[in-house]
Amino acid sequence: MRCPYCQHHESKVIDTTHDSHGGIRRRRECLSCGQRFSSYERPILSTPLLVKQDGTREEFDREKLARGIRISCAKRPVSAADIERLIGQVESELQKMGKAEVSSRVVGDMVINGLKELDHIAYIRYAIVYLRLDDLHALRHEIDRLLVDA
Ligand SMILES: [Zn+2]
Repeated sequence: MRCPYCQHHESKVIDTTHDSHGGIRRRRECLSCGQRFSSYERPILSTPLLVKQDGTREEFDREKLARGIRISCAKRPVSAADIERLIGQVESELQKMGKAEVSSRVVGDMVINGLKELDHIAYIRYAIVYLRLDDLHALRHEIDRLLVDA
């Protein structure tokens, strides 16, 4: 850790505190100029790469996911906070898997299950695209399943 005042690379730790997010803050004193400064260390979880059906990989894209969900939820009683929470859940579940790559279907499945709980109409809109419900029979089948569950 370089001193931010003189760039000297040796310092001594005079105090260490752990915060509730798993981070560690260290109060340091530069061994050259004697100035005090703090450093902060925190664990970073990484999100696996998504493997698409055609075999290409892409980074998990929070914004892209949010856009798709917002379109499904348009004019429905689903708050921005609900959507944010759903995306947060998806992201943290992906991180907890601790894998380098997962199928993009994993993400789609998490979203669709989350929407099912939030709003059935938003769910159906998402399902039409995601499950490729391209005819009325497939759509009716899905709606019948929802009505049975409800
Ligand atoms: Zn210094």
